[in-house]
Amino acid sequence: MRARPSFPQLLLNALHGRCPNCRQGRVFRGWPNRVLPRCPDCGLSYFRESGYYLGGMIITYILTAFILLAAYLVSLLIPGAGAFSENFKFVFWTCLAILLTLVLVRPAYSLWLSLDFWLDPWQPDEPT
Ligand SMILES: [Zn+2]
Repeated sequence: MRARPSFPQLLLNALHGRCPNCRQGRVFRGWPNRVLPRCPDCGLSYFRESGYYLGGMIITYILTAFILLAAYLVSLLIPGAGAFSENFKFVFWTCLAILLTLVLVRPAYSLWLSLDFWLDPWQPDEPT
């Protein structure tokens, strides 16, 4: 069994969308968040139970909410930002939220898988 990677390594691995066990195989098979059933390199199952990636969705939403809030607070400091119409602001924040979700969904899913594997590793040959 492999040594547990350090936390920065785990984050890096998750950002690259790699298998938490062998760190070679891809996690995703399609855009934006279609996860392979198992690792193409070592055979590690990516689905421990049904609804497994609910945690990934939650991480996506939390990250999106935090970044939106931070962006909103920063926007309050920009002089002249209040001059935009309410409609423009609504469209702007909606587009930003959708964009952020699309950008974050992969790292979040991958992070969820990596974190779970890091906390409680399972074996590639384990039946699913
Ligand atoms: Zn693997």
